[in-house]
Amino acid sequence: MRPMIAGNWKMNGTLAALPAFVAGLGRTGTDVDLLICPPFPLIGPMIAALRGTAIAVGAQDCAVETAGAHTGDVSAVLLAEIGASHVILGHSERRADHGETSSLVRDKARTAIAAGLIPIICVGETLDEREAGEAETVVRAQLAGSVPDHFAGLIAYEPVWAIGTGKTPTEADVAAMHATIRAALGRQLGDAGTTMRILYGGSVKPSNAAALLAVPEVGGALIGGASLQADDFSAIAAAAPR
Ligand code: PEP
Repeated sequence: MRPMIAGNWKMNGTLAALPAFVAGLGRTGTDVDLLICPPFPLIGPMIAALRGTAIAVGAQDCAVETAGAHTGDVSAVLLAEIGASHVILGHSERRADHGETSSLVRDKARTAIAAGLIPIICVGETLDEREAGEAETVVRAQLAGSVPDHFAGLIAYEPVWAIGTGKTPTEADVAAMHATIRAALGRQLGDAGTTMRILYGGSVKPSNAAALLAVPEVGGALIGGASLQADDFSAIAAAAPR
């Protein structure tokens, strides 16, 4: 299966800087699936700027409801209507900053799929949990709570302690966790769980991308900081195994 290289811009990026970013991507992405998830107001302009390329544009969250009196929220239906293809759900920053629970993430995933979006559900342990030897238990519980029945989307394993810190797990630790996730998805989803792409996220950069992307069961990367620079994003995409 083609690897997915996805950028999570978080609350970064400007309209003014978009043309230079898109120009910097060059011919990136002819044999990998590429996705960029900018802040909500940049989704439309990003889609317009990337028209004619194979690079998809997604959102970083969506509301659990489809419409109504929910000030500040953005519906999956609207995101799909303007051309977003994917939505990141349950990122650790949303779980921590907004108290998002696994059951809310599961309900958002259902809403997103019904609207025609492809969810990327994030799971990952904190440093305390890893040091206590609970990483796999925590991630299994997040999967059980966050992934709905008949889920069609992607999973991103993002150890919280690796996000934005420059630290990464060893390749052996990534392999072990991705094997755990693969087994859990198989139990939860049957055949669909055996082929679903599982992304790795957490301080992926051009210098470590090839090694991380070559780990068994790693089906791509979710990239924060390094996705903001077109040349870094392109270099990571170029490092993906074909
Ligand atoms: C992320 O927040 O999804 C992420 C992986 O961030 P970074 O690459 O900056 O660690």
